[in-house]
Amino acid sequence: MVDDFHDVMALAIQGSGTGIWDRDVVTGTIRYSAGWVELLGYDHDELSTRIEDSYDRVHPDDRAYVQATMQDHFDGRSSVYEVEHRLRCRDGSYKWVLSRGMVISRDAEGRALRMVGTTADITSTRLMAERLHQSTSLVANLTNQIPGLIFESRRSPEGTARMTYVSSGIGEIFGLTAEDVAVSTACIHDRIHPDDLPMYMASLDASQRDLVSWQCIFRVDLPTRGLCWRQIDARPARLPDGETLWHGLVTDVTERMEMEQQLHDLARLDHLSGLPNRRAFLERMEKTWSALVQLRLDRVAVLMIDVDHFKSINDRYGHAAGDEVIRHVAALMSLVLRSGDITGRMGGEEFAICLPGVGLEEAGRIADRLRTEIAETQAWFEDIAISLTVSIGIAAMLPTDRNGEQVLARADKALYTAKQEGRNRVAFAESVS
Ligand code: GH3
Ligand code: MG
Ligand code: MG
Repeated sequence: MVDDFHDVMALAIQGSGTGIWDRDVVTGTIRYSAGWVELLGYDHDELSTRIEDSYDRVHPDDRAYVQATMQDHFDGRSSVYEVEHRLRCRDGSYKWVLSRGMVISRDAEGRALRMVGTTADITSTRLMAERLHQSTSLVANLTNQIPGLIFESRRSPEGTARMTYVSSGIGEIFGLTAEDVAVSTACIHDRIHPDDLPMYMASLDASQRDLVSWQCIFRVDLPTRGLCWRQIDARPARLPDGETLWHGLVTDVTERMEMEQQLHDLARLDHLSGLPNRRAFLERMEKTWSALVQLRLDRVAVLMIDVDHFKSINDRYGHAAGDEVIRHVAALMSLVLRSGDITGRMGGEEFAICLPGVGLEEAGRIADRLRTEIAETQAWFEDIAISLTVSIGIAAMLPTDRNGEQVLARADKALYTAKQEGRNRVAFAESVS
């Protein structure tokens, strides 16, 4: 019965690709099971029983390590002997094996007498591990080379999210580490500009709900770099457990956004005077009119300014001198006005000013200050001093107007009156003066 059991055990072990060995430490001999011998491709009678020969089959690079591990176990520093190493086969090739064993008898002084153990072929496992390692480092190397952050993230239906893979770009893009975002993405949210966070969360929610691409441009405030622009582009997929998985890319779009902002500003600026152009002025007037209609403002005054006899300045000193006069008037306007006032060059030598919260009486004083300042300050073109005057028409913006622009017609009419009355003066629109 006992013999039967041992036979069955031996067969089972052999069938699992594991060999057994039995080492006599005193005589320096070792015996191998049939399975062990087969493992290395030998016939049963081909292997010597000398322990030196067994060490000779261990790969030279592994030998010292194997012997030291064995010695540790002999000396009682480990409860079991266990080591992964390479063994030379009959055909000269090497196999990775896992050797495990145990001293099963010792003499009175504790010296090892006999040891038994197993040897299992782990070549395929090692190969797989090696391939896995290779493909993991390939992914890491590739993603780390790409500018920006490549990521995989997961979010539960309740909205808790974490990053399950990040490339090294996590440092540059968010000033964070893989560990920081492995459990929660809250630390990313902390760095997003408060004005952009609601839009960021809304785009994330929509991507999760409808499984549409997650695309979002937002600002982050980084400890070392300050305010920067970031763009996310990621694809979602629903997992069987209900979580949502994204694969995507976050890039630095600071330069592009700043350039777009500059282009936007440029399109709204009059290059000659440096003031907002007609389009920009009208946009801001429209907003002011909305505020007036919604009672966020109680009154708004609007001034139209036109240089007197500008044509003759052009004719006398040349077009470039005329340009200089336009710049001169713009500079004096900026000097007289406060920062909240809205100015614009409407075209030619015509300017407009919109004064939120200012009544007609005060607007009249402001207009006269500007008129006097212009009349008393000469513009310089090369070494020519050019004297000039302006006429100004004033009207009140009304909540009953059709739009923000309508007041300009009244101010223009008042300006015409000022011209009619002799120029270098201020006139009010009739209906509201
Ligand atoms: P008034 O006192 O009635 O306003 O007479 P004015 O000569 O100023 O009026 P008018 O509209 O007849 O002349 C405006 C001139 O401004 C005509 C145009 O050639 C000139 N002009 C328009 N845009 C520019 C510009 O950008 N630079 C210069 N130098 N001249 C301009
Ligand atoms: Mg004009
Ligand atoms: Mg003019």
